[in-house]
Amino acid sequence: FASIYQQFLRRVEEDPHKALFILPEGQTVSYAQTLETVQRIAAQLIEDGVKPGDRVAMQVEKSPEAIALYLAALQIGAVFLPLNTAYTGKEMDYFISDATPRVLVCSPEAAADHQHRDSLVVETLGAQREGTLLRAEQGHTDVYPAGPEDLASILYTSGTTGRSKGAMLTHQNLASNCEALLQTWEYTAEDTLIHALPIFHIHGLFVAANMTLAAGASMHYLPKFDADQIIDLFPRATVLMGVPTFYTRLLKNQRLTAEACAGMRLFVSGSAPLLASDHQAFEQRTGHAILERYGMTETGMNATNPYTGGERKPGTVGKPFPGITIRVVDRESGKPVADGEVGLVEVHGPNVFSGYWQMPEKTAEEFREDGFFITGDLGRFDQDGYLCIVGRDKDLVISGGFNVYPKEVEECIDAHPQVQESAVIGVPHEDFGEAVVAVVVPAPGQAPESQEILDFISEDLARFKQPKAVRFVEALPRNVMGKVQKVALRQQFADLFT
Ligand code: ATP
Ligand code: MG
Repeated sequence: FASIYQQFLRRVEEDPHKALFILPEGQTVSYAQTLETVQRIAAQLIEDGVKPGDRVAMQVEKSPEAIALYLAALQIGAVFLPLNTAYTGKEMDYFISDATPRVLVCSPEAAADHQHRDSLVVETLGAQREGTLLRAEQGHTDVYPAGPEDLASILYTSGTTGRSKGAMLTHQNLASNCEALLQTWEYTAEDTLIHALPIFHIHGLFVAANMTLAAGASMHYLPKFDADQIIDLFPRATVLMGVPTFYTRLLKNQRLTAEACAGMRLFVSGSAPLLASDHQAFEQRTGHAILERYGMTETGMNATNPYTGGERKPGTVGKPFPGITIRVVDRESGKPVADGEVGLVEVHGPNVFSGYWQMPEKTAEEFREDGFFITGDLGRFDQDGYLCIVGRDKDLVISGGFNVYPKEVEECIDAHPQVQESAVIGVPHEDFGEAVVAVVVPAPGQAPESQEILDFISEDLARFKQPKAVRFVEALPRNVMGKVQKVALRQQFADLFT
């Protein structure tokens, strides 16, 4: 068993001067330089009293040193706990009191906000290496012999369906998933990634960064998404990993052409559903079929469209990665459904986390007796064995005894030229149990009428799926990861029919 840290060390030995980070102004940080920073941070963490199993929390802007901090935590057997930079006061109180880290690394400006916390050592790290974290003069070189079952990280879920939960991820979870990704997407030391994702989330950290470190590849390391900057980098890169909005925004840029993408070999999308229309438009413009994959904090990546040997189908997330089993079961009975039917998506494999931090009941609820994890997503397998995610179980609307999958209704509404986007929810209703309600954001400068929208979709949807009410809003509520918060919408419109 080789942990992500051990794989990184091997890459340093093989090619110490290779660039790991390529920064926007062109400076590079090599594998050897990164190791030096890692070891200095490790020395500081040990000085701060961090023991194997202790949590090390981080809330800083994206920098090469932030990745070095992650590696330093792994090196000394600590549990890495990255936190979204958008979290503020009360949210931070929750994460810190829930995870009780030994050390919190935050920006120099934020340090004062945390001084009041008992038994927490606060270190600081700025975007230009300033702060207290890098003050050790001598690096620490011992590597804690972490076993496959030891915890490597507690990663909090995005908090789309409720309060964020801390998913406990082992070294085995990270290493096995990384291996499956490297093989399937044929990612090697020859690759140069465009990394424009945040590093406090599974996609940017345990997919993009882990793959790069383990493969000995390089990455253009960007603070945030910028379409022009990314198009400029295409000739010097091979792979882009993005969320669906990356592709929506790239498509709006006239400089996105087949020539601009000529040297690229792979475009990956995940973390939320990619619009089938964006998939098709991107292929038309560039000749590249975006590869959509499906994963979550608790499991890493579960399914992927094929890299080779098969079609990349819009609107699907492909087939399970090697070593991972996915099944679709009936919501009520828990028994596998017939192929093609919608049910709960459940996952089994070495990628599946070991439970929610300090939530034994919640953990027990989300696992079947045979070890399958109940993802909370609804999906179905198509005739070719490709998985399609139709939405979240918690967002399913049951109206008059019929299941309504919001995504299907949303797609019909979104096709209206005066609509920018929509969210379909269920709210309490005396006769129907729940009534379908559409919350609609008009396109800029437009003011459609409810009835126009209802007429527009009436031919495409069975009566029971058609909204009983349409409400217009300026914007949909989103969490810090940009995901629509239907819980908030259901609260806002709870009294429409009662
Ligand atoms: P919480 O669990 O706190 O409510 P969350 O589920 O949004 O938040 P994440 O672990 O960041 O937290 O997101 C995983 C979820 O994102 C999946 O369960 C799924 O609903 C969605 N998702 C990820 N990739 C895809 C995809 N390709 N297509 C559709 N949905 C996706
Ligand atoms: Mg979730």
